[in-house]
Amino acid sequence: MLATRISIITIGDELLIGQVIDTNSAWIGQRLNQAGYEVRRRMAVGDQWDDIWQALDICGSDSDLVIITGGLGPTADDITKPLLSRYFGGEMVMNASVLEHVTQIFEKKLKRPMIERNRLQAMVPETCTVLHNSRGTAPGMLFEKEKTIYVSLPGVPFEMKGLIDDEVLPILKERFPSEAIIHRTIVTAGVGESFLAERIQDWEASLPTHIKLAYLPHHGMVRLRITGRGKEETALSLELDEKVNALKVALADIMVTDRDEPIEVTVGRLLQTSNLTVGTAESCTGGYIAHLLSKHPGSSKFFKGSIVSYHNAVKESLLHVPHDTLISVGAVSAETVAIMARNAREQLGTDYALAVSGILGPDGGTEEKPVGMVWMAVADADQVHTHELRLHYDRVRNMEQTALQALHYLRRLISKRQKNQG
Ligand code: ATP
Ligand code: MG
Repeated sequence: MLATRISIITIGDELLIGQVIDTNSAWIGQRLNQAGYEVRRRMAVGDQWDDIWQALDICGSDSDLVIITGGLGPTADDITKPLLSRYFGGEMVMNASVLEHVTQIFEKKLKRPMIERNRLQAMVPETCTVLHNSRGTAPGMLFEKEKTIYVSLPGVPFEMKGLIDDEVLPILKERFPSEAIIHRTIVTAGVGESFLAERIQDWEASLPTHIKLAYLPHHGMVRLRITGRGKEETALSLELDEKVNALKVALADIMVTDRDEPIEVTVGRLLQTSNLTVGTAESCTGGYIAHLLSKHPGSSKFFKGSIVSYHNAVKESLLHVPHDTLISVGAVSAETVAIMARNAREQLGTDYALAVSGILGPDGGTEEKPVGMVWMAVADADQVHTHELRLHYDRVRNMEQTALQALHYLRRLISKRQKNQG
């Protein structure tokens, strides 16, 4: 079976100047991939007539499906609709069902009168088939030209997503039956990708051509993505299970999770299944670890709170770090983070507390304590463990790395403790 060739064109000056990051094509790529399709090309163009036209020519020449997002709005910078009308021929006509839908939205939802500009949302090229946008006023449009299907969708991510799921995917599945694509993930920590590759080279060499392995390093962890393709989903799934299970055994000592999820979710599940709670005491991360722990639904079951003790005065007043300790060994030290963790655990009434203190840069380093030096501590009922990191990135990356490494450190200590107890 020949793979369906799909191109995405995203339109908008804001995408080219980096004011808006093109998350639409990333989302579409993921969604289509889940459904068994691969995107072959992405293009971003500004709100320029000639550029959009040329992008349509290029993508249309070698694609079965071209997905276009953006530029459908009622403002003058949005020129996609008139352009599509010219490109595919025919006049602009008022579409009665779209007009009805737009009118309903204004009357029932927005409760304000519609102006002419809004009414014009219902004007579409007569050569298109309208795709119903249940989430907004700008309709999706489908065109066909020389065996290629073009769909034009609004740029607003929420509306675009609704149209892809409700309208585009059903059409795609009907017109272009797909193969099954299954992804599996194993996250490892503590071993760089080249060492990892050495370690699993025999396993990798044993993979059949329809199963592929990708290494995705990120902040000291490596995500291994195993992708299989085949006609028969169940058979493929079994085959992948067998391969992935062998890999899990081989990497048991460094595996963090076998799910495609961020570390805070792995930590959260580990805590929740054991009925344990955690809190944080954060200096250099300013609450970022607390943010990560609390950003996913259900986190109140295991995350209790945080003391953001950015300033030393707060380390003293809320976490009872002795003034003398801060003077003699400093805020960035094993002693200080250990006290922060122990006292945060007490103050917050949790089973575990995680504390961090470091110098993330660009300034503030000394010879003895250079930029990138970070101390972390984990306290439980019996003991406090401390660990030092030396980071070499910019401030933002240092902060992310600190948070993820700290969560990883916490995870390791919890699982170790559980193993010892069990
Ligand atoms: P509207 O009817 O709201 O005007 P539209 O189809 O004209 O929709 P645009 O004006 O191009 O869409 O974009 C609307 C909003 O959607 C923009 O403010 C932008 O933030 C967001 N957006 C557009 N394209 C993308 C994209 N590729 N990725 C993420 N967000 C996008
Ligand atoms: Mg626009």
